[in-house]
Amino acid sequence: ARRKIVAGNWKMNMTPSEAVKLCGELKDLVKSDDVDVVYCVPAIDIVPVVEAVKGTNVEVGAENMYFEEKGAYTGEISAAMIKDAGAKYVIIGHSERRDYFKEDDALLNKKVKKAFEAGLTPILCCGETLEQREMGITLDWIRMQIKSDLVGISADQVASMVIAYEPIWAIGTGKTATTEQAQEVCKAVRDCVAEIYDAATADAVRIQYGGSVNAGNAAELFAQPDIDGGLVGGASLKADFGKIVNY
Ligand code: 13P
Repeated sequence: ARRKIVAGNWKMNMTPSEAVKLCGELKDLVKSDDVDVVYCVPAIDIVPVVEAVKGTNVEVGAENMYFEEKGAYTGEISAAMIKDAGAKYVIIGHSERRDYFKEDDALLNKKVKKAFEAGLTPILCCGETLEQREMGITLDWIRMQIKSDLVGISADQVASMVIAYEPIWAIGTGKTATTEQAQEVCKAVRDCVAEIYDAATADAVRIQYGGSVNAGNAAELFAQPDIDGGLVGGASLKADFGKIVNY
């Protein structure tokens, strides 16, 4: 059986000192023997957060990275930097990156490759707009994203990674996808992985739902056969995150 994984995506919140304070407040609340817990934090918070969660069950992730090894890319951070700072995960292709920063699937594929090369576990995001859902092209769109983002990635790598399905219309809106909608797309992601790779790889990859996950809806979402946890935005900055981990 797949182990559940609940990750917070702090987005552009928490100064380093606020971050350390939040880690202290959440420390006892997010304890779990059954669920992997990850804080994906702003780049500048990675070092202090790694220090703050030392000796706990919490792992740390970055929210983004660049695909080049090193060099003249002012303002960017590399996979090796994230790894050396003590983080294990990196979110790749969040819809906010795709939208505001114009990241496309060809770029994201390079990032996924580089993350693996550096020994990081990618949390690859996919998701449709409201317009795409209303046009009835959600599953085709998601399959296109997954196929493009995973070009050249091996079955073993995919088996070890995390894919997050985040419908854009459910992010930060308080409008969660219904359990049926979330399960339907997470299953489609798994079927797509089975199609590209094989049944064993599809069975191993962990698929999260994200979009207005909160203490009240986590249990029902995480009980779905193809939902292996959540990627949590707003509620990851509050004590509620402990309730989501221990759903
Ligand atoms: P919210 O939980 O705030 O809707 O954000 C979801 C998200 O984008 C996580 O990556």
